Amino acid sequence: MKQKKSMAGQPVPTCPHCNSQNFVPILYGLPTRESEQIAQQGKIMLGGCILRDLNWFCKECETAWGGPQPDWDAIYNKDSHGNRGN
Ligand SMILES: [Zn+2]
Repeated sequence: MKQKKSMAGQPVPTCPHCNSQNFVPILYGLPTRESEQIAQQGKIMLGGCILRDLNWFCKECETAWGGPQPDWDAIYNKDSHGNRGN
């Protein structure tokens, strides 16, 4: 299930609250084994099954905000070693 990239472009460059770049995308829904791994590496935040209007979470000030959809393809591909399940 892919979302259209209507808000194409880069993810927000910095946290709107503290200007930190230490933020991660929030993944909603049931985490897969892969997404759990990435979450454990601190690269994403698991948002649970309740979909909210927040796409990003700042680790510095612990604030979540909306903004563009994360580019999940890039996030998953970044660190998986050719292990494409399904
Ligand atoms: Zn912040």
